[in-house]
Amino acid sequence: MSLIVQKFGGSSVANAERIFNVANRVIDTYKEGHSVVVVVSAQGDTTDELLEKAKEINENPSKREMDVLLSTGEQISIALLAMAIEKLGYPVISLTGWQIGMLTNSNHSNARIKTVDTERITRELDKKNIVIVAGFQGINKYDDITTLGRGGSDTTAVALAAALKADLCEIYTDVDGVYTADPRIVKNAKKLDDISYDEMLELASLGANVLHNRSVELAKKYNVNLEVKSSFKRVPGTIVKEVGNVEKMLVRGVARDNDVARIAVIGIEDKPGKAFQIFSLLAKKNINVDIILQSIGRENTKDISFTVSKSHLQAALDVINENLGIIGAKEVKYSDKVSKVSIVGAGMVNNPGVASRMFEALYDAGINIHMISTSEIKVSVLIDEKDAEKAVVAIHDKFELSL
Ligand code: ADP
Ligand code: ASP
Ligand code: MG
Repeated sequence: MSLIVQKFGGSSVANAERIFNVANRVIDTYKEGHSVVVVVSAQGDTTDELLEKAKEINENPSKREMDVLLSTGEQISIALLAMAIEKLGYPVISLTGWQIGMLTNSNHSNARIKTVDTERITRELDKKNIVIVAGFQGINKYDDITTLGRGGSDTTAVALAAALKADLCEIYTDVDGVYTADPRIVKNAKKLDDISYDEMLELASLGANVLHNRSVELAKKYNVNLEVKSSFKRVPGTIVKEVGNVEKMLVRGVARDNDVARIAVIGIEDKPGKAFQIFSLLAKKNINVDIILQSIGRENTKDISFTVSKSHLQAALDVINENLGIIGAKEVKYSDKVSKVSIVGAGMVNNPGVASRMFEALYDAGINIHMISTSEIKVSVLIDEKDAEKAVVAIHDKFELSL
């Protein structure tokens, strides 16, 4: 007998009808004789609405209390889904992150899973229960509630699949698989039959939120069989696995990330140690820096630009402004109206033409590039946010990804 972990996202449980749709799919799997563990997210836009509610009370609440609030969304979903399954006459139990011993670190709002205690779930499965688990939430070593970051229910599902040594982890969502680009932006994007862990990890990290990036990281680490598929249509999805297509595709997909802001430190003295000074200040504040660009020195000064996530923008500006004198820079400029657009493909290595083709697509579309960064399997550009969707479409066309 096999064990299957199924995860259903927010849109899949958005209302009563959809909850019964999920209940029926879960029951079908159970009736086939599998043990089923189901992970659910908060219904529809519940998490966003809870964030709004918090704002009405306190513009700057502690992350601990925010996690107490946000975790309630998933608790509603597990109870409702369990009630639906009860009504359909099958044995079921819902469990919160705390009840299943989902132990995380204390990084509230973006906690990392440390261990999962499988004892309770295994006991319930032995009793032939369908087990419904709240995604996105855990507890730290002080028994405080934590959350895993937006989109984190995927990670709950993969972590459980790894810990329980499940045969399969299915991520059910509102699209029927992983596409060459977000199908909401590119109408003729193509569904991929399979994709490698590495390519999926890059796409997810670069803004393709169809999977939470840490879920892919965990799936790769523990070799979890992962499939992304539709909650609504019964068709095969996309398999995420060790090796993708044998012939490595030059470009597998295009991703866009709007959660980015650019900071430029202008007129820095052109002497050794300046980059070290700036980035050690940021590191001390736990601010992650992504793309970095340093200009050529002129008249004994240089500029250093870099990107951070929007949520870190203010903290980064504060720490640099406070230390402008020590750094020896003239001024700091920033923009949060930028986006990062990237192409990903394991076949890109040793193909120098790929980046230039991407830049040609942007040039043809009249889009200006602010920054560029590359790795073995991706090329990213920073452009104006208003151009981002046009850029994704242009690049997708240029590489003929819909064919
Ligand atoms: P869920 O609530 O089920 O977790 P998400 O909204 O987090 O769903 O993820 C699904 C969404 O991801 C899709 O509706 C789609 O717009 C978006 N998406 C972004 N990039 C891609 C991609 N490359 N392939 C498929 N979907 C993508
Ligand atoms: N409910 C959480 C969110 O909206 C977690 C998730 O959906 O995966 O981010
Ligand atoms: Mg999601």
